[in-house]
Amino acid sequence: MKNRKVVLFLLVSLVGLSGLGCARKNESPTPLVSDLVEKNVSVNTFSGNQNAVSLEVTLAKSALLGREFLYGGSLQFSSLKEDNETTALMAIALGQFPARFRLNPNSLLLETDGSLAFESDVNQPSRLIHEFPLLRQTADTVTIAINSASPLLDTFLWGENQTVPKRASWLRSSQFVEGSELFLLESSVELADGSLAEFMETIQPREKIVPKGAQALLNDKELNPLAERFRFLDPGKVFIANPDKSVGGKIATKVAQRFFPAPGEPIRFWITRNAPEKYLNDVKNGIEAWNRYSKAMERSDLVRFEGYLPENVKVGDPRYNILVWDTVQDAGAAYASSSADPITGVISHTLVYIPLAWINEGHAFWERAQLTESKGEKRSQKLAALFRSRTVGGRALPVHCLDRSHMHVDLQSRKSPEEFGRSLLKGVVFHEIGHSLGLAHNFKGSLAFDPEQGGKTTTTSVMDYNQYHEEAGTFARLDTADGPILEYDRQIISVLYNEGKDLKKEDPELPACDDEEADSEEGGVDPLCVRYDIGKNPAERTLLGFALLSDSNQNVGRLASLPSSLARVAELLPEADSIKDKEALEEQFKAWKKTMRGTASIYISSSASSLAYLSSQAMRGLRVFKEGVFPESSDEVSFREQSLQVLENALSTESLPAASAEAWQKSTDAFVGWAMGTVAFNGLDEAAKTELTDLWKKEANELLATVNEIAFTRLRTRIWEALKHSEGAPFSFHQRQGEAMDLEAVVLNALREALKPTLKNEGKRSNEERKTALESLIGYKGIEQADRILSEIGDQLAQEIREAKDASLRQELRSLLNLIKK
Ligand SMILES: [Zn+2]
Repeated sequence: MKNRKVVLFLLVSLVGLSGLGCARKNESPTPLVSDLVEKNVSVNTFSGNQNAVSLEVTLAKSALLGREFLYGGSLQFSSLKEDNETTALMAIALGQFPARFRLNPNSLLLETDGSLAFESDVNQPSRLIHEFPLLRQTADTVTIAINSASPLLDTFLWGENQTVPKRASWLRSSQFVEGSELFLLESSVELADGSLAEFMETIQPREKIVPKGAQALLNDKELNPLAERFRFLDPGKVFIANPDKSVGGKIATKVAQRFFPAPGEPIRFWITRNAPEKYLNDVKNGIEAWNRYSKAMERSDLVRFEGYLPENVKVGDPRYNILVWDTVQDAGAAYASSSADPITGVISHTLVYIPLAWINEGHAFWERAQLTESKGEKRSQKLAALFRSRTVGGRALPVHCLDRSHMHVDLQSRKSPEEFGRSLLKGVVFHEIGHSLGLAHNFKGSLAFDPEQGGKTTTTSVMDYNQYHEEAGTFARLDTADGPILEYDRQIISVLYNEGKDLKKEDPELPACDDEEADSEEGGVDPLCVRYDIGKNPAERTLLGFALLSDSNQNVGRLASLPSSLARVAELLPEADSIKDKEALEEQFKAWKKTMRGTASIYISSSASSLAYLSSQAMRGLRVFKEGVFPESSDEVSFREQSLQVLENALSTESLPAASAEAWQKSTDAFVGWAMGTVAFNGLDEAAKTELTDLWKKEANELLATVNEIAFTRLRTRIWEALKHSEGAPFSFHQRQGEAMDLEAVVLNALREALKPTLKNEGKRSNEERKTALESLIGYKGIEQADRILSEIGDQLAQEIREAKDASLRQELRSLLNLIKK
């Protein structure tokens, strides 16, 4: 048992220096805390007895009751079990909840302010945040015990499935910062299945976070035209007093979230101490890239990178905005989350999660050079599902991004993966800090890109998921924060941080759309709201992607054709003189093969610029469009025609077109030619030389066959997925040469084709591919044409089962047939 007052005094001095600029001078007449004692206790957990703490706090009633507080939670780390799989998840700011204390005979309750969550002024059920046991009280003070995590955080562990009982909940550390009256409580919750989550909980008077006079900027299209034009982030719906006093009552609205730094003060960011020093400058440039906008406004810097997080500061301390560096290699997604006051939108703090994968993506990609789904990709999908299923305090998790590193792989990483990794890191930091500042995604930023004018205007916003080879243009050089002013970002930063003073009448109103609009299928889709696309017309860009395979002279912006990229693989070979022995020579052949495979993969099956991805997105062009989203200046018929051509091209392209296949041969010859000039090769006898060159040629041909099989299977499979039935966005009608065409019938016929066991070029179609197509087709059950096809496919499968020559094939076919019967 020890009294912590002395320690606390020192902490207060440190706080004074760190100055996030949020606190204001409004000392309550009586200090909130008059005594605080921390005891060491032991708690029985899954992994045995653990040290924990129990806090005994004496609080002044006058400074506690009737006062508004903000309760905040941040996830530090968690290990969640679901379907026998454990997922590690960390660094998420879970939100700020307006709260009040209420005294019961035996406990002190901390409850959410129900008036914000409900329209009624009378009936406002509150959520319990904490129930602290009451140890004793006087006329002026209460003494309570704090020794467990808030039950409000439990839903984070459980998700929708609350079947696993809670095993333990305890406090790992506590701290009270006097000046800002901030309680910092590190807590843990453990479930009976071993799922564990570690939190930082904070309790602080609301006025310490929300500066006096902080004006809410409504993120509400009906009340604020700026919310129509820009895509802000907000902490969720609140009921506030109607600004229209003549109507009165309360309205449901949303408030844009942003920082409120003191005048002249930048918003400061730190990074966790495990981040390698050699990347700090790239992180700094990524963060401070936002200062190009404050400079343009002739204002002091908007943001500042402060380097490593001070030693004793914990993740989730609301006085620090932290980039959390994770050393996990294949955790392929970065994300940002912020906690904000829902009434004013004032952000207390932000957490940005950056996995090492961003630095490693260049190396890792050329190492695996995969043609199919990667580990990182699977993990990203898992994360996305977890984020969707979790809530805290009835709100969705405030995670604003899930940018996947593997989507950014690019040819430019072939030569220098390290430089590529640094550039990618800087780019993702730039993007994530945008979320921290209150910017939502704008997936229409890249519509500004005109492939015919390659490289001039890439995007109007770094808040799009842009393709790497174009996004690199958002910085002037590798070692700088400088770069072009992106117009949409300039405008929204002015609205959030300079009262919109830099928004001139003649400034263009730029197209914008966020995640909700990208995912929405209510009343149709928005075919121009596409993640990771590029170009003013996504369908046309995808068609160019096919031309990139078949025409050596085609290029799209900075991206050259596949034949010319394959031809250049041989340029990456080292000096022939340096290869002294046969092992070194064989190593070079292996590396050459990987580069060939990876290069083809970038164009066809992996990355954001691959046909697999772009074609799947282009299928949106065949569906019904949401009213008002398709620009009147564009030609809808030709857009649908291009989308349809994408489908037709994808179905007729089953292997690399002639130009790419020839380039493959040429590159093979170039490798053999280079090898012949090496010391190692010349040291071999004639028979060994012939044997080796024959082997190389044979293996190069086999690799080409593998690329054809796997990469194009992946391309088609992505399309079958994209043809799923959607109630809200069915396939539309189209005019082809004046004739009406039912696109749903076209889609169903394509799915029927996809279920044939052989390809047009007589190759075998994988049963995995057939399964995906069948799952999509089954979604159309009840539609006459689909039912007919399904019954036809059923008969066909039954026959294949009878003719099957081995047990595992028969099993695969049976499971397909069972899908139909279900
Ligand atoms: Zn994002």
